[in-house]
Amino acid sequence: MIPVNEPAIGEKEIEYVVDCLKTGWISSTGKYIEEFEKKCADYCGMQYGIAVSNGTVALETAIKSLGLTPEDEIILPTFTIISCALAIINNKCKPVLVDSEPRTWTIDVNKIEKKITSKTKAIMPVHIYGHPCDMDKIWDIAKKYGLVIIEDAAEAHGAEYKGEKCGGLGEISCFSFYANKIITTGEGGMVLTNNEEYAQKARSLRNLCFREDRRFYHTELGSNFRLTNVQAAIGLAQIEKIDKLIEKKRWMGSKYNEYLNDISGITLPVEEAWAKNVYWMYGIVLDNNKDIDATELARRLKKEGVDTRPFFLGMHEQPAFHRMGLFIDEHFPVAENISRQGLYLPSGLTITEKQIQEVSNLVRRCLAHQ
Ligand SMILES: *Cc1c(COP(=O)(O)O)cnc(C)c1O
Repeated sequence: MIPVNEPAIGEKEIEYVVDCLKTGWISSTGKYIEEFEKKCADYCGMQYGIAVSNGTVALETAIKSLGLTPEDEIILPTFTIISCALAIINNKCKPVLVDSEPRTWTIDVNKIEKKITSKTKAIMPVHIYGHPCDMDKIWDIAKKYGLVIIEDAAEAHGAEYKGEKCGGLGEISCFSFYANKIITTGEGGMVLTNNEEYAQKARSLRNLCFREDRRFYHTELGSNFRLTNVQAAIGLAQIEKIDKLIEKKRWMGSKYNEYLNDISGITLPVEEAWAKNVYWMYGIVLDNNKDIDATELARRLKKEGVDTRPFFLGMHEQPAFHRMGLFIDEHFPVAENISRQGLYLPSGLTITEKQIQEVSNLVRRCLAHQ
């Protein structure tokens, strides 16, 4: 089976982890955490990095550090992972959905403004599958209405918008270091910001809001969202070689483009003129006039030994949210279409050209015999 993903763990990761074990620094203080936070922040041109236990709680912590009030609204794309909407709801705020843009599958920036109300406080752009959002328009809207930008860059380590790194494009940004992300700590996440107040708040929130002046006296409630030094040790080794990992992803993207280019009836990922796509996952979308949909293609590929994953299902199509009275009767045609017609192909960091060629040939064959 050609797996849909595999991390690239090397000697340095092992060396740093062994160092943690040998020195006894295995919990949530230690030099690797500090260094990893600093490297991540520097990489994105941000001042502060706050390591947390995963990407989902990075989003939750980032929102909480803004100090919003219940019922405040945050705009996000419907086409994303549940973590985004969940982080908003866990903060007692209201998620407000926007459709996707059909080329990059990121939030349709031309549909944001009509969703703004007097309660809108923030926009959460999510850079989907490695392609950045079209930030100029988002910056304009944020400025016009005084909104905070909370970037979800969990799928876009190293991606760039007009030469600037994703994760450094808003007031506060979030990363995930889950095993399938471009750099990993097994489980892990990070909040980045230039805002000292947000940074202090996030740091406090991840560590139960212990106070420095009086440890077991609490004026606010936080959580235990700490990352361990052992996880940060893996992360440091990973970010030290991030340029190589991104080069590999971009090479993978260009190879798939080359091999899939002449197959009719499928749409391939794009790289807009203003973007650097890091192809976190190489997605394809089948035309509607094909007799098979993405589920059927995935089934056929699996039979031939190729693992794939379906695209996200929009937040407005989630029964869990309908039961809460959210997004009922809302429709987003672009997201609904790519959810059903899209899937991503094996995109791991260890993939070879021969595997890419094999997967591409199989896609061609499965689509020819429909
Ligand atoms: C992976 C991911 C997350 C969540 O990260 P976890 O570490 O798995 O909690 C959040 N947002 C996006 C866009 C993701 O892809």
